[in-house]
Amino acid sequence: MCKYDKYSLKAEEFINDREISDSLEYADENKNNFELIDKIIEKAKLKKGIDHREASVLLACENEEKLSEIYALAKQIKKDFYGDRIVMFAPLYLSNYCVNGCLYCPYHAKNKHICRKKLSQEEIKAEVIALQDMGHKRLAIEAGEDPVNNPLEYILDSIKTIYSIKHKNGAIRRVNVNIAATTVENYRKLKDAGIGTYILFQETYNKKRYEELHPTGPKHNYAYHTEAMDRAMQGGIDDVGIGALFGLELYRYELAGLLMHAEHLEAVHGVGPHTISVPRVRRADDIDPDEFDNGISDETFEKIVAVLRIAVPYTGMIISTRESKNVREKVLELGISQISGGSRTSVGGYVEPEDEDENSAQFDVSDNRTLDEVVSWLMELGYIPSFCTACYREGRTGDRFMSLCKSGQIQNCCHPNALMTLQEYLMDYASEHTREIGDKIIERELVKIPNEKVRKIATEHIVDIKNNNKRDFRF
Ligand code: SF4
Ligand code: SF4
Repeated sequence: MCKYDKYSLKAEEFINDREISDSLEYADENKNNFELIDKIIEKAKLKKGIDHREASVLLACENEEKLSEIYALAKQIKKDFYGDRIVMFAPLYLSNYCVNGCLYCPYHAKNKHICRKKLSQEEIKAEVIALQDMGHKRLAIEAGEDPVNNPLEYILDSIKTIYSIKHKNGAIRRVNVNIAATTVENYRKLKDAGIGTYILFQETYNKKRYEELHPTGPKHNYAYHTEAMDRAMQGGIDDVGIGALFGLELYRYELAGLLMHAEHLEAVHGVGPHTISVPRVRRADDIDPDEFDNGISDETFEKIVAVLRIAVPYTGMIISTRESKNVREKVLELGISQISGGSRTSVGGYVEPEDEDENSAQFDVSDNRTLDEVVSWLMELGYIPSFCTACYREGRTGDRFMSLCKSGQIQNCCHPNALMTLQEYLMDYASEHTREIGDKIIERELVKIPNEKVRKIATEHIVDIKNNNKRDFRF
């Protein structure tokens, strides 16, 4: 039997099944131990995080009073670290060819009736222009695992194409990459291509369940998949994004696994994950979420977000358009810092939305609003939509980024950058209604920048964006 060791590079030691089971048992035993819960909440108030065992206790707690304390603390931490800002991004599906057999994804190799597509570089160019014309600056590219159809060279060429396109005032300034686990050498190539975050979801941290859900293809190898972030970091990528697909296994198991993964990365590489994503299984071609018996209610989903926010205050949290407007509204308050808007989950979907009989989408979208609708909705809720991509372009990645985050200094960059990139959006892409709300927010928020010098520079840049057609300022 493997022993738990967060410093180990072996998957089954840093994500240790026994340690997770013990943590869940401990959480069950203590879910009404209010003295302990108070202690954990007090520790969490220091805003330096809590570990997977402590988080498991909070997640198991069902006491109304304690739960409202947990939610209030999550909201406070969200406010303290991220203010009212919400970073915007969009997924770009390059290819849905895939050799794997994942049971929850319609791209699995045995699905013979799904429409398979792979974008050519010309088609990518057209998709990127469509995304730029919506106002996007930050993309997450997605491709199935297929060494013949989607070799790494194809991904690298695609990244180059994406960065090269400057349509009108548009530009994609950060490309995050969500592709299958690969080698250190390939991660190094991705790093050299200038990627932002490397994203790879674990799907489930439970090895047995993982192997059942991935019966065929290279992804079947649990250890290779689970150790991918270590190889990515060895390859020089210091911003990595982890995630679990909630609904596949018990949510309490996944939350403990996610946090153990974060603790492992911090212990070994000195920097935890840049982001955590919390997707839930969705309906898609030949996928029925009801077939997975670990589905979670919206209330449980909100609890997961709140506990994660408390456990890893420095880690950005992402949700996609898998979630409805109502759910998104709730979890934004509790901890989510990044959302997608106007997304198409089909290959080539930004240029040509699919007809009913085509079906290259990875999942059905719940939030079908345009980016402009999402931006104005966010502002009406009191948020500041941000198209900022400054950190990685300024070399603020990995531990450099984390230390700025932990000291709170990053906020001096995030807030003015949010206002300047929002102003760009308002000038170039927004509807009149959105622009009206946005202009007021920027005026109101500029005066709140605490540092006088920064305030002055940001104000000048906003004038330049509005009156002199200048773009791409950043702190
Ligand atoms: S989840 Fe990824 S690896 Fe699995 S079938 Fe879908 S695209 Fe392929
Ligand atoms: S300044 Fe850095 S941390 Fe802040 S929003 Fe921009 S990229 Fe993100």
